[in-house]
Formats: sequence, structure tokens, C-alpha cells
Amino acid sequence: MLVVMKAQATEEQVHSVCQKIEKLGYRAHPMPGATRTAIGITGNKGEVEQGTLEEMPGVQEVIQVSKPYKLVSRDTKLDNTVIRFPGTAATIGGPGLTIVAGPCAIESREQAFIVAERVHRAGAQFFRGGAYKPRTSPYAFQGLGLDALKIMAEIRDKFGLRIVTEAIDNETLELVAEWADVIQIGARNMQNFSLLKHAGRLRKPVLLKRGLSATLDEFLMAAEYVMSEGNYEVILCERGVRTFTDHTRNTLDLSIVPAVQRLSHLPILVDPSHGTGKRDHVLPMSRAAIAAGADGIIVEVHHQPDKALSDGAQSIYPNQFALMMDEIEQIASVVHRKLPRGLQMETGSADTHVAKAH
Ligand code: PEP
Ligand code: MN
Repeated sequence: MLVVMKAQATEEQVHSVCQKIEKLGYRAHPMPGATRTAIGITGNKGEVEQGTLEEMPGVQEVIQVSKPYKLVSRDTKLDNTVIRFPGTAATIGGPGLTIVAGPCAIESREQAFIVAERVHRAGAQFFRGGAYKPRTSPYAFQGLGLDALKIMAEIRDKFGLRIVTEAIDNETLELVAEWADVIQIGARNMQNFSLLKHAGRLRKPVLLKRGLSATLDEFLMAAEYVMSEGNYEVILCERGVRTFTDHTRNTLDLSIVPAVQRLSHLPILVDPSHGTGKRDHVLPMSRAAIAAGADGIIVEVHHQPDKALSDGAQSIYPNQFALMMDEIEQIASVVHRKLPRGLQMETGSADTHVAKAH
């Protein structure tokens, strides 16, 4: 159920409708848009009695939502969700593209700083690096844990890069939320409903990767889990799915980009690294992702991929990353987007320098 407020509805009227919904024992999710506010209702077992809400001042109409997801839907919020990062000009989902780059895993302070310096110099605004790694083998490198989170916090301080890193369970979620700027929930956890609900109770953006064989509906429902708990800052990420082909690690399903954008207001990034598993496929598929309308890229970069402790074969060299940025910049203009390079700090914050790309 969705309550659509009139364009001229006042804040008090929105507030009264929310109060009424909560009094009925449900949860209200006000979603302000450019022209009007819609209020999603969750927690109802059956249909909500429509009449009581319809008659309230400022209410335009009350709509029954037939789709299984409500809050992720464009029916609830017409305008694209734009996620902002206080103290910087970086956004996810706005007209500017978002580039997240860094190694699969933080292996040492030295490795992390070398890669961070290079991706920063090429103009990335976000740094990725696994502290907790979901590995197929229990004997493979599992990540440096808290030490890695601390290294990435130092990287944020030094370069202004915002940090994206994965939480693999409820325990690591608390730590990741404390140290990082964006909480990644990996493909293997896309349907870990307990983790999704816990992440929904936090007030930090969540980057949700598509499950290994998730359909579009399953993907959107996973995002709905996070949003239904009150965290509306969800970023979707296509990272390839399992198919019969074996020439790539996964099949990067770029057609999900326009499919998501049609149904949902949430931003969607593309991961060409896990999507292909092959270094020489990463650049072409990054270009294709931007051309398809993705809001940005999350890509693995390593200065010595042959020595990487995880995902070396799909990690690009820093100079390839710089080339990728140049190419993406050109494609961006064709799809009426921009590639902001470097972090312009908001004036008034302690650090007002412009971290330039070149
Ligand atoms: C990763 O980003 O390093 C990762 C493990 O991704 P995914 O969950 O998509 O496999
Ligand atoms: Mn990886």
C-alpha cells in the first residue's frame, strides 16, 4: 500500500499520515520526491483499510501495490535516489558517474597505499578493499579483518577516498559500519535475510551485489529487505551470474541495468572484474556498462596482480585503470553523464583542496 500526497501537502500533513499509519500498527516510510511525497506502508498482513487514510488532509490517493516490492519501486519514488557523502562532492546515483577502485583484498599496508595512491591519481572517488573475504576454500586467504579496516581508514584520511568494504556476517557488519563509508553485501550473501535486515537498521549506504543466480525480482526483493528496516540508501551492483558458458568466470548481465532502472529508483553499479574474471575483458565491459547507462563501476586494481592473494587474474594494472577513466569520460558524454575526477571537498570542511586527477 502506498499513500501519495498532494504536491502542495505540508510537512505536518505528511507527518500526520505517518503517525496514523504507525497507530494502525504498521510502519510508514515517507519518500520525498521532486514533486510530491509518497509514503510506503509495510508491516501489514493483509490490505490496509483505505478509507481512513484517503480522507486525511493532503492525501492525493491511496494505491494498492501489486508488486512484491514497494520501497525499491519507482511507483513509490519517481526520482532517482542520489546518495551523498558529507564533506565531499561524491555521489552515487546522481548525474556524475561513480568509480570505485582498489584491490580485491587488503593484503598489507604497503599494497593498499600503493594502489590507493594510483587510483586516487587517476581520479577515483571511492576505494574498495576486502577486509573480510568470502572465499570458496576455507584454506584460502580470508582477509586481514580489523587491521584492514584501519588501513582503509588511514587511506580515507590521506587521499579523501571514501571506503567501500564487505561485511560477511552480522558480526563483521558492526565493524564495517563503524570504519567504512559504504557497506558491501556480497553476491553469496544477497539472500542472507538476517544480514540484510541488520544492515537495514544501520544508517550507512549498502552496496548490494546480485546473487550468483538471482533473478531481477529476487535482487530487488533483497534490496527491499534493507529498505523495509528504514535504510533507504541502497546501491545495486551487477557482478555477473552463473550460466553454461565457461570462457568467462561469470556472465556479466548488462541488460539488467535498464531493467532495474525501469522498475526502481535505486542506483546500479557494474562490476566488470567479477563479471568476467579476466583482466583483458575488464576495459571493454566497463565501457559497455557505462554505455548501457550504469551509474558507475566497481573494479579491482592491483599493482602486482601476479602476486595478489585473491582475484589477481581479474585485477587490472593501475595504468589500465587510468586508461579506463579516460575512456569512460568520453563515453559518459554520449549518455549525458559526467565523470567527476577526484574529490572536491565541500567548502567549509577542514580540507578544502581539490584532489585532482592529473
Ligand atoms: C568482491 O567484491 O571482492 C566480491 C567477493 O564480490 P562478489 O560478492 O560479487 O563475488
Ligand atoms: Mn574479488
